[in-house]
Amino acid sequence: MDKNGRRNLTLICVPIMDETVDQMLLQVKNAKEQGADLVELRIDFLKNFNENDLEHLIKNSCLPTLVTFRPTWEGGQYDGDESKRRSALWRAMELGADYVDVELKVADEFLESISKNKPSKTAVIVSSHNYQSTPSVEEIGNLVSRIQATGADIVKIATTATDITDCARILQVLAHSQVPIIGLVMGEKGLISRILCAKFGGYLTFGVLKQGAVSAPGQPTIRDLLDLYNFRLIGPDTKVFGIIGNPVGHSKSPHMYNPAFKSVGFDGVYVPLLVDNVPNFLRTYSSPDFVGYSVTLPHKMAALECCDEVDPIAKAIEAVNCLVKKPRDGKQAGYNFDYVGAIEAIEEGLQDGGSVAPVSPLAGKLFVVVGAGGAGKALAYGGKAKGARVVIANRTLESAVNLASKLDGEALSLDELDNFAPEDGMILVNTTSVGMKPKINETPISKKALRYYALVFDAVYAPKLTRLLREAQEEGAIIVYGTEMLANQAFRQFEQFTGLPAPKELMREALAKSIEKSAQ
Ligand code: NAP
Repeated sequence: MDKNGRRNLTLICVPIMDETVDQMLLQVKNAKEQGADLVELRIDFLKNFNENDLEHLIKNSCLPTLVTFRPTWEGGQYDGDESKRRSALWRAMELGADYVDVELKVADEFLESISKNKPSKTAVIVSSHNYQSTPSVEEIGNLVSRIQATGADIVKIATTATDITDCARILQVLAHSQVPIIGLVMGEKGLISRILCAKFGGYLTFGVLKQGAVSAPGQPTIRDLLDLYNFRLIGPDTKVFGIIGNPVGHSKSPHMYNPAFKSVGFDGVYVPLLVDNVPNFLRTYSSPDFVGYSVTLPHKMAALECCDEVDPIAKAIEAVNCLVKKPRDGKQAGYNFDYVGAIEAIEEGLQDGGSVAPVSPLAGKLFVVVGAGGAGKALAYGGKAKGARVVIANRTLESAVNLASKLDGEALSLDELDNFAPEDGMILVNTTSVGMKPKINETPISKKALRYYALVFDAVYAPKLTRLLREAQEEGAIIVYGTEMLANQAFRQFEQFTGLPAPKELMREALAKSIEKSAQ
């Protein structure tokens, strides 16, 4: 780590894409305040551009500048005269821009024309953009050679991800490059390339000032790079973790694990992994650097099939929510901590926050599970393992019957749930998405039926206080939030990933903050 607390030399560049010079300079100041290393002045976005604008921008920029004048034929905004464009780039070099970007298609001609008088201060980035796909490693290697042959100081290759495995090829090229290289994969499925380039030696990455205000698809915000992914702390030895899902953008997990890694000094980064095919993903990222994953919808069953070893409860539930590559032999081990997380939270609720007695407080209780999907199965098996009598109520009765039959339990339709009251003091757990944002006024059971329950748990965690939990509380039941399940299973995963005790308070706070932020 250097004296500024950095583990890598990869720069963060903020693209500036405004219509006037004054707006641009304001954003440059903003970028500096946010911690950027340099700015890319996208002068193709300026209205009525003239070369005086360039002078004003370069001379008044408080950060090093990369000047890009991207033509429409390479995905930019400029569709005017080509000689005007090249003369602006040349002028930018004369004015002392730190970098200029020249597209590969015109690079030979441009660099030849300036070869005798190239200002030594400016580094020329020769760039190639592929908005359709990511070629093979061989093809990317050939592209790097072609770019190098132009005399480029820095090679830039941006491709498009049609699958997350496309990023692996660009990262591989970065890792083996002998020349300064920017390698990024565009699109939502390319996100990890923009973060992990710091591990594999990329020259720079782009971070935007505002979510969505991107110059290329998939760019994260500079705040996320620095605060969420601890970009400056990523280095060659950093281990990679993440959440495999589809969709996965809403996941709270990176908000919990990254600050937790940082707080215990563990050299890891945790990223969202938008995966289409789990076996392909695991095969592609097979190096020991890629260590462990949380698994969410719809991949919990597929993940199970990829395991060399599965813990018995995950096998029974037929779902894995945590994959860890064993350092000893590289074998893939699968676990299900959803079950542990939820059951622990319910037991703690029944013990009124006290430590859980050797005999579970669930033993002998009637345990009514609403839902028979992944979370439903996990809770039902968990309740059974703790000695509860299990009842499954589900919209599709057949799934309830199937699950109940495996657990010597009873099955109900959702309609029957409202009149199900064989005894007082029952436990109710909702494992359906009913009541989840945005449909926050929905609930799986009528309020009057809740009076028979001593404790109600809701797996839904957005909002934290669902209608079900509010009404249960009004009826005098103990309530347990879905966030507790999320937090408890994350503690277990953290311990599997790092071998260290989880910083529970910090992770809880990070989760609460992230949920609050997404509710705004
Ligand atoms: P899943 O496998 O797709 O199962 C969904 C279940 O919900 C099925 O039983 C389904 O019934 C039922 N369902 C869906 N929409 C319904 C509706 N409109 N009315 C009645 N029933 C409905 O999903 P899952 O992984 O179990 O997740 C379910 C919920 O638990 C989600 O809200 C998820 O966010 C939450 N969860 C929370 C945590 C946590 O840590 N707090 C962890 C995992 C899951 P059918 O069989 O009839 O389709």
